[in-house]
Amino acid sequence: MQTAEVVIIGGGIVGSSIAYHLTAAGCADVLVIERESAQGKGSTGKSMGGVRAQFSTPVNIQMSLYSIPFYAAFDERLGHPAGYRPQGYLFCATHDKHLAYLRTNYEKQVALGLKDVRLISADEIRTMFPQLRSDDIVGGSFCSTDGFVDPYSAMIGFMTWALDQGAKLWKNTPVTGLRFDDRGIAAVETPRGNVATRKVVNCAGAWAPQIAHMAGFDLPVDPLRRMLVPTEPFDQFPHTAPMIIDMSNGFHFRPEGLGFLLAWNDPEETSGYKTDFDPAFIEKILTRAADRVPLFENLAVNPKRAWAGLYEMTPDHHPILGPAPEVPGFFLANGFSGHGVMHAPATGKILSDLILTGSTSLIDSSLLAPSRFAEGRMIEETAVL
Ligand SMILES: Cc1cc2nc3c(=O)[nH]c(=O)nc-3n(C[C@H](O)[C@H](O)[C@H](O)COP(=O)(O)OP(=O)(O)OC[C@H]3O[C@@H](n4cnc5c(N)ncnc54)[C@H](O)[C@@H]3O)c2cc1C
Repeated sequence: MQTAEVVIIGGGIVGSSIAYHLTAAGCADVLVIERESAQGKGSTGKSMGGVRAQFSTPVNIQMSLYSIPFYAAFDERLGHPAGYRPQGYLFCATHDKHLAYLRTNYEKQVALGLKDVRLISADEIRTMFPQLRSDDIVGGSFCSTDGFVDPYSAMIGFMTWALDQGAKLWKNTPVTGLRFDDRGIAAVETPRGNVATRKVVNCAGAWAPQIAHMAGFDLPVDPLRRMLVPTEPFDQFPHTAPMIIDMSNGFHFRPEGLGFLLAWNDPEETSGYKTDFDPAFIEKILTRAADRVPLFENLAVNPKRAWAGLYEMTPDHHPILGPAPEVPGFFLANGFSGHGVMHAPATGKILSDLILTGSTSLIDSSLLAPSRFAEGRMIEETAVL
């Protein structure tokens, strides 16, 4: 039987970051097992690539405070581009309650050490982007170090670095079962043979509940379809723009190539493994786009270029990180609720610390421990896009 010190199930950006952080910490005997023929076929390859520190809970802010500087230094550190573009995130408030919310978040962000975030007035937003319909905008918040990365490239960069340091990647290999003995996890089953190991990390993204079932428990992670619509080239709005969020309805967009990438969380979406793009979504999103940016009436969209992918939602919109209760050797890195790309660097560091030393100083890991649901310690994140 083959052996590995740590087996990572799933070669998306989270599994890749954990492989990187483990090897960087000196643990080279790492095997990543990916069922697809290529990496990135899960949610990572579908992501919008947004990275931000403008969150409402301290633990999410702390994860971004590790991750965004990591992405800023990625190319130099890993010798591979992450495509970080610090163009910012601009939240546009259309109600006083939004402003109060942004102010509370701003105070938490600054208290935790975020330097580049500021509250801005409606007039400043009008000056920055006169193309926005601003009659109902009452102010906002902007952070210049928020921005975008290229999720696929970052994932490949993490994995390539880990492979260069001795980690292994098996593609085309689904994990089909787990084996246990009286010490806990003992092996991972695959059609390519079993792998003896004492440490397994579930990084299977939206499919993580299936891996948890192999270990005998239910994981509170639900797949939820998200759709993105890229536009054809459009030069009537600046391409230096940040991610702009219309808080009246959650519509947001950012520049992408010669056009823009449009996103909106349809509240009518229901959970399930749906990855088909619904053409009816185009009209819904274009209506909201033209409502906030009247010039977007002129946008052209090719429905064949639009796509859908899965968010991995948890009940409190925070990831589930750390050792699974009652299954020694089984670790979870799941349920990123739309933030798995931006929090992949911090997740890699946290999981590597927990696997190799049993603790981490990056966050209070008990906050994201799997046991929080059973213990009634959920911490709601409301800044979910
Ligand atoms: C439309 C959309 C927009 C998004 N926008 C953003 C954004 O702007 N910013 C952000 O931070 N996040 C965003 N996200 C979320 C982000 O993409 C995910 O949280 C992140 O990619 C999760 O990474 P992962 O590695 O955990 O999962 P995945 O990338 O899904 O990887 C999981 C891997 O596990 C493999 N796998 C599953 N089962 C098995 C098995 N039995 N055996 C072996 N392998 C298995 C899969 O094939 C897959 O490759 C977005 C997601 C979507 C869908």
